Amino acid sequence: LSTYIAPLDEIRFVLNDLINISKLSEQIGSDVLADAELVDAILEQAARFAEQVLAPLNTVGDRHGAKWKDGQVSTAPGFIGAYNKFVESGWNNVVIAEKNGGQGLPNLLCAALQEMFVSANKSFCFCPELTAFAVKALENAASEELKQQYIPNLVSGKWTATMNLTEPQAGSDVGALRTRAMLQEDGSYRIFGQKIFISYGEHDLAENIIHLVLARIPGAPEGSRGVSLFVVPKILPESGIRNDVVCTGVEHKMGNHGSPTCTLVYGDSGEGATGWLVGELNMGLKAMFVMVNSARFNVGLEGVALGELAYQQAKSYAQERIQGRLATGGSDSVTIIRHPDVRRMLLVMRSQTEAMRALAYTIAATRDRTASCIDQIEKRSHQSFVDLMIPIFKGWASETAIDVTSTSIQVHGGIGYIEESGVSQPFRDVRVAAIYEGTTSIQAHDLVERKLVNNGGKAYQAWRYQIEICLTELAQRDDPTLLTIHHHLQSAVTAMDSAVTWAIENYAEYKLEVLAGSVPLLRLCGMVAGGWLLARSATVAKTQLLNAPYASGFLPRKVQSAHFYACHVLPEVNSLAMVAKGVGMATLALGEEAF
Ligand SMILES: Cc1cc2nc3c(=O)[nH]c(=O)nc-3n(C[C@H](O)[C@H](O)[C@H](O)COP(=O)(O)OP(=O)(O)OC[C@H]3O[C@@H](n4cnc5c(N)ncnc54)[C@H](O)[C@@H]3O)c2cc1C
Repeated sequence: LSTYIAPLDEIRFVLNDLINISKLSEQIGSDVLADAELVDAILEQAARFAEQVLAPLNTVGDRHGAKWKDGQVSTAPGFIGAYNKFVESGWNNVVIAEKNGGQGLPNLLCAALQEMFVSANKSFCFCPELTAFAVKALENAASEELKQQYIPNLVSGKWTATMNLTEPQAGSDVGALRTRAMLQEDGSYRIFGQKIFISYGEHDLAENIIHLVLARIPGAPEGSRGVSLFVVPKILPESGIRNDVVCTGVEHKMGNHGSPTCTLVYGDSGEGATGWLVGELNMGLKAMFVMVNSARFNVGLEGVALGELAYQQAKSYAQERIQGRLATGGSDSVTIIRHPDVRRMLLVMRSQTEAMRALAYTIAATRDRTASCIDQIEKRSHQSFVDLMIPIFKGWASETAIDVTSTSIQVHGGIGYIEESGVSQPFRDVRVAAIYEGTTSIQAHDLVERKLVNNGGKAYQAWRYQIEICLTELAQRDDPTLLTIHHHLQSAVTAMDSAVTWAIENYAEYKLEVLAGSVPLLRLCGMVAGGWLLARSATVAKTQLLNAPYASGFLPRKVQSAHFYACHVLPEVNSLAMVAKGVGMATLALGEEAF
């Protein structure tokens, strides 16, 4: 079992050199980001917490799991203590606005902290993460009275929160949900129905659990237009009485064993669970989407976090495991890191993880710019970039992390397949990232329909302009490595342009064909986004190396990652573009009966 070491050098490089945190601090007026020492101190404290408190419980959570008995759920040994420490240190409310009692740290810094915490213990992180998102949703849509009643205890960590969308017949199609809400004379509602797969729907970490529940009132329009959002506490705050919501079981899952995934039954005793409307009737999906959109970004970040963990495990093993002789001869057996294909696998893992991180932090920084921008045109342009990138990042990073964590098992050989080695945990834990908060198909539909076609390709063109600047800079540098990166990035971008244009032009007439190729389209957009930011990282690193041409270590590694990614990952964009444009007819040639 190997431990997790927070990659602070890498995180600092992305924050300082790729994003330019000091410029960002001026743009968004952040005192925290302007204070480099403070930023460093926060990163180091978070790294210590991740390494020393959360990481040691990762295997415990995986092996012990969360246990259900008579409606109660107990988390794995050590989770309660870690939660109390997490809350005492204030890590639970870093992202929550100061006006709500949180610390209001910029999204960029929060992304770095969240990455470290999730690498260390993904299952643990769900609980405080969902709570912070719920505060955002309440802040956005709830009445003042509800805000005052619920937000302070959620921010302090005394209570936690959940998001309740899924029902047996309503997964990707949330509008198919049947949970009912009946208005009472006092203005409250009685909730009846069953929700499944609810993360931390029941647990022993906090005094109360506040469920944000989607339900429909009698006579509401069919589908997603008839869905309303309700706040339903496990224990009614005024009276301390147990509400009529019961956890009837937890799922036995492939991964994330430390996080209880609960079935919740509302109104089983006949009276209904008491809840209150959040926002307007039938506008629940819009209100809930504040939570869902934040969650989608964080799911992409799970890809970065577990990619990093898996890379660290694979690298350590490859440096120690002795097996086989060098292909060029010699009588001694060598460590497997000396075999070219093992190196290739490690670089596939490292470069893709760095690419995902670069995109994650770029999105987070743009969210900060959006939030603080006064000029409305500029604000809209930042928001369009974020809107375009969320489905790309969520879909691409979660799918890529599955490949990266699987490659770690390959690097380990047979021992990687043995549970005791702990190598399969990141793979098992990250597999669900491509499923929850909207599957990759749902992200790809969102990308094509809302972010490309409905937008008339405007957000895409604005992003392309940024890539063009990067290409020009690469071409102007008299450096063979940067010119190689330029060559591959240019070729990938040309292929992406042709696939995106094809999708936009054909969507109206050949919708099904375009959607059949939408996941490859999403993946290639993610690959290019990663390649663009690694290319920018390489130019920055090369500039720094001009002053230290013989430097070893971090900067040459950054250039190597970008170079490798350009040579190994970006060429795949060409074939994916062909798939995106050409797979529709073959996919739809025959009806269901042919399967
Ligand atoms: C560990 C875990 C934790 C979870 N936590 C929560 C939680 O806290 N709260 C919550 O509400 N839910 C939660 N979920 C539920 C999760 O969000 C759903 O599982 C997910 O949205 C997919 O829904 P589904 O399982 O019904 O699959 P389905 O929607 O039945 O999808 C099955 C397949 O069909 C595809 N598909 C479906 N519809 C379309 C379409 N229109 N176009 C193209 N393809 C389509 C999907 O992409 C998928 O490949 C959790 C799930 C898991 C496994």
